[in-house]
This record gives sequence, C-alpha cells and structure tokens, in this order.
Amino acid sequence: MLLENISHVYKRISHAAMRAGRDPSEVVLIAVTKTVSAERIKEAVDLGIRLIGENRVQEAKEKIERLRDELPETVQWHMIGHLQKNKVRPAVMLFDMIQSVDSIELARKINRVAADFGKVQRVLIQVKLSEEETKHGVSEEALEALVEEVLSLENLSLEGLMTIPPFFEDPELVRPYFRRLRQLRDKLNEKGYRLKELSMGMSGDYEVAVEEGATMVRVGTAIFGRRSY
Ligand SMILES: *Cc1c(COP(=O)(O)O)cnc(C)c1O
Repeated sequence: MLLENISHVYKRISHAAMRAGRDPSEVVLIAVTKTVSAERIKEAVDLGIRLIGENRVQEAKEKIERLRDELPETVQWHMIGHLQKNKVRPAVMLFDMIQSVDSIELARKINRVAADFGKVQRVLIQVKLSEEETKHGVSEEALEALVEEVLSLENLSLEGLMTIPPFFEDPELVRPYFRRLRQLRDKLNEKGYRLKELSMGMSGDYEVAVEEGATMVRVGTAIFGRRSY
C-alpha cells in the first residue's frame, strides 16, 4: 500500500515536471506525517522517504525521540505548521528546516535560540496570498522587509518561500496562487536575492504546483491515507 502510494506520487511528480519542461529531480517530496505513527514513518523511510513534514512540535518531538536510533542520518524533519513563540526552543532543537517563518519577531526569536545552540537554522518564509483569516503567513506587502530581516540574522539560512493556498476542490483554481508565489520569488531574485525553494502543493494539487515551479511538495493523505483529524 505505502509502496504503491509513494511510487504513484513520485510518478505524478515526474510527469508534471516533464509537462512543464522541468527536470523532475528539481522537486523533492516531503511526506507529511501528522497523525501518522512512528512505525508507519519508519516504513516510509524504509521505502526511501527522507524528508518528513510535521505541523505540531510536541507530536513531532515524540516521534523523533522514538525513532532517533532507527532512521538514517540523511532523514530530515521539516516544521510545516504555525510555530508559536513558546515552542521555538524545541522546534530549533528538533527540525532541520522551519518552513513557517512569518514575522520579524518570530525570525528574531528563532535566530536567538539557534545562536544558543550554535546552529544555523534553515528556514522558509511562509507567504499568505489570500485574505482568509485563519491562515498564517506574511502578506505580499510585508514580504521583502521580512526577507531583508531574515537575511540579516546570522543564525538563519533563508532558502525560499512556502505557501498554503485556500482549499478548492478543483486544483486548477489553486494554480494562480502557486504562480503568484513563483512570481514573488522570481521578482525578489531579480533584485539580487537568492531564493531557491518554493514549498507548495499538497495531496489534491501537487501536480499543478510542480507545473508552476514547486521545488518541494508536501504530501500526506496521498501517501498515508485519510487522517482521523
Ligand atoms: C497537512 C498538511 C499538508 C499535507 O496535506 P495533504 O492534503 O494530506 O497532503 C501539507 N502542508 C501542510 C502545511 C499541512 O499542514
């Protein structure tokens, strides 16, 4: 089951990349394991998964500690959920990348904690492209100032942008949001920044995201099945 699901997702990523004239190896798959048990995560890693996305610090902590001695060193954990300021310390301790930096305050806090640990924390900036109130992320207007700030912080390494677009049944309706994130990154890079990653696309729309330039897709349900919450 897991094997079929993972190979199906890889195949669809490759096909989407080729349709867009992209090299499929430019796209990495992040397996999103919220609500998935440590045992199932181990099975996925045994099938070649190396990037794991979690959205809650405490849940990730339990699994990471559980699997500490069982996973290859090349496995990376990515924080993809909203990060509360009081969870920054464990998050910096646990995660290879934090994809959800969305304010100057949060960036500074992560930088301070990373400095304490003698770590350079890899991060993405989460951008909010719609007016939905429940979504976190920096507005387009405030993005460049946040990019500047993050780049000025010595213990942060800014690698790109992430977004969670509004949900639509029809993935074509999400396409403009993915395109917008790519345009924002490209415009920043024209000004001399060097942002590589675009983390966008989930189970329902990752192929469209890849067609629009995603370098990281975050896929849960299509790999592990439906979640209970
Ligand atoms: C849960 C989650 C995903 C994966 O969603 P699926 O629809 O299960 O693929 C991706 N990104 C974030 C931020 C998530 O919280």
